[in-house]
Amino acid sequence: MYLGIDLGGTNIAAGIVNKNGEILKKLSCPTLPGRPFDEIIGDMAELCSNLLSISSITEDEIKAIGIGSPGAIDNKNGVVLYAGNLNWTNAAICDELNKYYNIPINLENDANAAAYGEYAMCGKKVKDFIFITLGTGIGGGIIIDGKIYRGFNGAGAEVGHSTLVFNGEKCTCGRKGCWEAYGSVTALIRQTSRSIMLNQDSLMAKSYKETGEINGKTAFDAAKAGDISAQTVVKQYIEYVADGICSLVNIFEPELLLIGGGISKEGGYLLNPIKEYCEKNYFCKNIRQTEIGIAVLGNDAGIIGAALSARDSLK
Ligand SMILES: [Zn+2]
Repeated sequence: MYLGIDLGGTNIAAGIVNKNGEILKKLSCPTLPGRPFDEIIGDMAELCSNLLSISSITEDEIKAIGIGSPGAIDNKNGVVLYAGNLNWTNAAICDELNKYYNIPINLENDANAAAYGEYAMCGKKVKDFIFITLGTGIGGGIIIDGKIYRGFNGAGAEVGHSTLVFNGEKCTCGRKGCWEAYGSVTALIRQTSRSIMLNQDSLMAKSYKETGEINGKTAFDAAKAGDISAQTVVKQYIEYVADGICSLVNIFEPELLLIGGGISKEGGYLLNPIKEYCEKNYFCKNIRQTEIGIAVLGNDAGIIGAALSARDSLK
């Protein structure tokens, strides 16, 4: 058995995961960011002990603990070098958690842990793999030859902050034109709002008037119902996403690339045009191509990936 912990800016989610990557029990508690890291790790330890007691599992049965944390990670020393949303610098969280549990602990960046979870559970024997999540931003993780690619300082694989449009839309990172400023759900909502302003008779505008809300489904739902301006928004959005994927494939040529995040629930409506765009635009066209699919683990990817990367760190 393994403990997988997904440390987020809002919640700490933890689960007991068996060697096959199945979650047996999970619990969560609020992170309350801004506190000193030892307090947050104290809550994390309590969460683990609650999990063990509700599952009637003893500490001896846990072979390793995995943590996925936001920010730049020193995997070797178990230190969060920097995490802006937690306000942490050089937080030695593995040493701190070891005060409660004398068990091997493996620390990964949260997006990398989620990618490892999707990789380990994809059911395919691939070695080169990329996972992207379309959410508030675009997150990602890159697996090369079966191992997480972290970069020298644990801050690599920030795929959302590669340039799609030079000097384009302002990004949260301070640069302009990043892929996530076009392909995230936040960007889709902005694109939807702009279209509503220009097309007051559209189904998107009608939905906004009725619900007072614009979300990642507004344009997709209206497009499926035949609304022309929504179809234009969705087509353009999908091309933004697909073009970024195309660049990733040109650089890394993974065997499999999976797309996660809330918008991936659109399934084939999102996936099929992405595949079509990529097949037309890959640099290498006449060889076996990267398979693109929808991720399967949803919100559990972080817990499962943290646990399984801890499992595999023991090898
Ligand atoms: Zn950026």
